[in-house]
Parts: sequence; structure tokens; C-alpha cells
Amino acid sequence: MLALSTKPLMNLYDEKPFGSNSKMGVTLIVKCTKCAGLMLTAKGQKTKVCPYCGTHVNLLRVQRVAASDSAFEASEMLRKLKSEKGFDKK
Ligand SMILES: [Zn+2]
Repeated sequence: MLALSTKPLMNLYDEKPFGSNSKMGVTLIVKCTKCAGLMLTAKGQKTKVCPYCGTHVNLLRVQRVAASDSAFEASEMLRKLKSEKGFDKK
């Protein structure tokens, strides 16, 4: 049988805009070892597939560009970094 006593807690989590990420703590901006593309990852993760080149990046070896305890702030930082470096230029 399922107890429903956890429901108030669930509601607390639902209030956060970045539900699943907000509980994960620090969000890191890392640089792909192969293509040098910047991407977001949660601290504690060991590998991530680069969204640019598809490489399985080892997050223990990868260069950390920045870190934030807010997933939203990290994504904003990533956007700024990209525009500074001209990644978004077409
Ligand atoms: Zn890459």
C-alpha cells in the first residue's frame, strides 16, 4: 500500500521552476575535451555526452569553466560565455 503522507513535500518541490535540478546542488560549466564546446553538468556526474560532437566526456578530467549553485544562473553564465567567444555567431 502506498502512503500519501509525502504529498505536502512533493508540493514544495513543485514550486521550484527547475524541479529536478534544484535538488542536485552545484551546476558546473565544463569544456568538452574534444571540441572545446561549453556545456552544463551537475556536480557529481561522472560522464556526459557532448551536445556538440557526441563525445562521452569524462567529467573528472574535463576543464571546469565555472560553477553555480543555481541551474538557472549557470545556464545564464553559459549563454554569456558562448556569446563572448562567438559561438553563436552565424
Ligand atoms: Zn564536444
